[in-house]
Amino acid sequence: MFIDTHTHLNNEQFIGSEAIAIKKAKDAGVDLFFVVGWDIASSLAAVKLAEQYEEVYAIVGVHPTDALQLELTDLKEIEKLLTHPKVIAYGEIGLDYYWVKDEVGQAKQRLFFAAQIELANKYNLPVTIHMRDATNDTYKILKEHRPLAGGVMHCYSGSKEMVQPFLDLGMYISLGGPVTFKNARVPKEVAEIVPLDKLLIETDAPYLAPHPYRGKQNEPALLPLVAEEIARIRNMKIEEVGRATSRNAKALFRVEQND
Ligand SMILES: [Zn+2]
Repeated sequence: MFIDTHTHLNNEQFIGSEAIAIKKAKDAGVDLFFVVGWDIASSLAAVKLAEQYEEVYAIVGVHPTDALQLELTDLKEIEKLLTHPKVIAYGEIGLDYYWVKDEVGQAKQRLFFAAQIELANKYNLPVTIHMRDATNDTYKILKEHRPLAGGVMHCYSGSKEMVQPFLDLGMYISLGGPVTFKNARVPKEVAEIVPLDKLLIETDAPYLAPHPYRGKQNEPALLPLVAEEIARIRNMKIEEVGRATSRNAKALFRVEQND
């Protein structure tokens, strides 16, 4: 019923226990898992999991904070993965001015961000965007380097006013654990206004566990808690949220179109 459109089963916390995490999540109604890389090794690990498990797909790319240790020529290693049949998107890429405050580092992030959108376009893949404290520059780069196959603002933390401008650039909006946090006013406002056909859900496990597990290790089995809170906010049934967000995920990432 649910698709975890952004999870890190390739993270060290899950190594060796990913089969258990997948089984537990499937029992909770999570059908598919999009495992996201953040550097070269984790992207390779995502592809390996996708080869091992039928219900896992891979998203590969270099995260803005990991870009600082690399050179643009290193992206050749990512490019090699882009024609793999189970690689469905390019990510996670974007800008993170929360962790990187110096201008040189931020400029390098912008360089990697633009270059990776161009690579995604070359292979006709959608993009998974990480944006933290960098709304204006993220919007500007997405506008200049239009993702031709669309994409998703993963764990969207922008304002509700910026939802429409991002939708206009062909992006979906994905919500995760923070929408369940008691004091999270903005994500709840966003959950209310995103058009139902542009909404996705995710865990970002092992990070951002939903309430009441906030601060603990997150896992894909907790995804229904995100759907449940969105259903409450939008006055819908959780099954409807599951059906709509799964349909959207399959459309954007072009997996299992039959439903
Ligand atoms: Zn992530």
